[in-house]
Amino acid sequence: MHDLYTADNITLITGAQALSFETQRNSVTSILFEKDGQQFRAYCDQLALGANAIFNPHIMLSSGLTDPLIGRNLVEQVSLRVCVLLRDIRSLDGSTSITGHGYMLYDGKHRSNHAACLMENYNSPRAIRPERGKHTAVADLKFIFEELPDPGNRVMLSKDSRKPSVVFERYSSYLQRSATDLRNNIDDLLSALPVEGPAIVENEFERTEAHILGTTVMGRTPQDSVVDRNLIHHRLRNLLVLGGSAFPTASPANPSLTIAALSLRAADQAYR
Ligand SMILES: Cc1cc2nc3c(=O)[nH]c(=O)nc-3n(C[C@H](O)[C@H](O)[C@H](O)COP(=O)(O)OP(=O)(O)OC[C@H]3O[C@@H](n4cnc5c(N)ncnc54)[C@H](O)[C@@H]3O)c2cc1C
Repeated sequence: MHDLYTADNITLITGAQALSFETQRNSVTSILFEKDGQQFRAYCDQLALGANAIFNPHIMLSSGLTDPLIGRNLVEQVSLRVCVLLRDIRSLDGSTSITGHGYMLYDGKHRSNHAACLMENYNSPRAIRPERGKHTAVADLKFIFEELPDPGNRVMLSKDSRKPSVVFERYSSYLQRSATDLRNNIDDLLSALPVEGPAIVENEFERTEAHILGTTVMGRTPQDSVVDRNLIHHRLRNLLVLGGSAFPTASPANPSLTIAALSLRAADQAYR
């Protein structure tokens, strides 16, 4: 990025909050932002929003856009932690935080009934064992499930124009069935390991995977999406909406590389 920071024809403004943009017919003409308590307007030929799945829709709603899907389908993967004691295996070592991925439940017939799942083996368990000689003979696993988008889970405007209101209504029954299936089958699933006693599955899902997706999803038509396959708004053709908000689904995979790839493709298309 060094060239961008030092280029004479680029002004980089940090520590500012984009509030909304203005439009004329089918184009964005300017963006309003606040810095140090003062509001400014910057005029534009093209606008790329990259303010994530909470703030992209918030800025668009604050700009008066009324597409029914803006802010809808806020979604992320959902995980359950599982702890199991191991016999004669010291499982913790090395310098990486996740030492193994399991793809056994990633795809298959089960997905017609319940969610795809990615397993992660953590190198930093929440607790070590108290027994002499067995401190690290424990596996701390995370089962990360895909989740289905639900229009009820959403980002909305609030009374404070700088802060979005985020509404979470429910998990899908598709996801809930995965949790039930995991609880019922966890000992079978781990039977290849030398386990000592039954596995413990946490009661509650983790609060977040920090992989916030949805809310300005990509698709073919304004009826099923907010932006097209190149992340350009269906009507405002000089508006790019980048980042995790474009994801129409939430597979168990980490999203960042796909976010970067889609943004690079969007820039290629928009500035060719
Ligand atoms: C602790 C943690 C660990 C993670 N680990 C991984 C991982 O290992 N692998 C992986 O794939 N993903 C990981 N993620 C998820 C990943 O970081 C996000 O999915 C990704 O960064 C989302 O990209 P984005 O461009 O949509 O939003 P962001 O990265 O959130 O970028 C949006 C930017 O816009 C700015 N912004 C927001 N609103 C405004 C506004 N109104 N005005 C001006 N600026 C604004 C924000 O400050 C931010 O800089 C992790 C996330 C966290 C929190």
